[in-house]
Amino acid sequence: MFEHELERLKEQDLLRQLAVVDPLDGSHVRLAGKRHLLMCSNDYLGLSLHPALKQAAADAVERYGAGAGASRLVSGTGPLHEELERRTARFKGTEAALVFNSGYAANTGVIPVIASEGDVILSDSLNHASIIDGCRLSKASLEVYRHCDCNHLENLLRKRSAARRRLIVTDSVFSMDGDIAPLRDIVALAERYDALLMVDDAHATGVLGERGSGSAEYFGLSGRIPIQMGTFGKALGSFGAYVAGTRELIALLLNRSRSFLFSTALPAPVCAASLAAIDVIDREPGRRTRLLANRKQFGQNLLACGIAAGSYHTPIVPLLCGSSSNAVRISRELLDHGVFASAIRPPTVPEGTSRIRMTILATHSVQDLEQTSAVLGKMRQDELF
Ligand code: PMP
Repeated sequence: MFEHELERLKEQDLLRQLAVVDPLDGSHVRLAGKRHLLMCSNDYLGLSLHPALKQAAADAVERYGAGAGASRLVSGTGPLHEELERRTARFKGTEAALVFNSGYAANTGVIPVIASEGDVILSDSLNHASIIDGCRLSKASLEVYRHCDCNHLENLLRKRSAARRRLIVTDSVFSMDGDIAPLRDIVALAERYDALLMVDDAHATGVLGERGSGSAEYFGLSGRIPIQMGTFGKALGSFGAYVAGTRELIALLLNRSRSFLFSTALPAPVCAASLAAIDVIDREPGRRTRLLANRKQFGQNLLACGIAAGSYHTPIVPLLCGSSSNAVRISRELLDHGVFASAIRPPTVPEGTSRIRMTILATHSVQDLEQTSAVLGKMRQDELF
């Protein structure tokens, strides 16, 4: 029944298959029976294997069990959900926070609540799929502005001034490109045009800012981004997501957000690991320093091989390959050289911009980064990309 569709995906080099990845240490995995250097994980600070997170999860499973048993409003709210929400609000410098089961659930659950019929959503053209799906679920009308283009955004804000409410929504760190949204300008526009602003800090939480609390801290915008969403599953090495904002916002989401209302709560060990991760972020700022130093080092290594790697202060390094076939070929070639970095293809990225999305980790050694750049340099010399 589905053969045709699968065949078409295969012909276009768009067929995905799962690779079973078994962690060996902070920067290596076993894949197809062989040790590979891991260059595509979002566990930027190496916290998923941190002893404090593992211990916290083990203690919580012992104390509270493996599952929450029901959704949060039924009987699923445990002491650790509350504690994680309190701790997250403190970390983000907001009045309150609400924990969601994933970033995908947060974006698809929040957007339809804060923008509905009669409202307009202004969304960056490279926003994450979960934001796009949140917009699709909302009854608000949608305007997509050109990537990070504040002039375009301003024109649309003017054009839609009659809408009941205007919601601007953007990733802070764009997941497939690693660039950072011009949040100072976006906040100024939101304030000038009386628009609500929601920022997705999935790749900024634990990474950006002096304390690693995300984009508001990085840009000195504390108190000026009313809806901040982020995840525990990336730099925080755990799982789940949060929305941080005013008590009023959180109370409304708790009442109206369907992905919150109608889904079993996160298990206690997951909440415990997230709590431990926030502590580690506070206690071990050296991990963030190391991550940024590694990113800089890798960028310089690539430049020396004639490969531009952006000047971004984020761990994401996109290597553009054009067609999906090219991206798949390059990813296979990297695997042959012991480097695991998967090919990212449409619909994750726009047509013709398939890429290898490399990510730098705090746990990479200088040798790990040199090994990768040497392989890429050789491939560039051989004109493989
Ligand atoms: N937003 C962005 C920008 C993301 O990159 C992701 C994850 N790829 C999500 C949201 C979804 O988060 P989660 O993986 O927790 O569902």
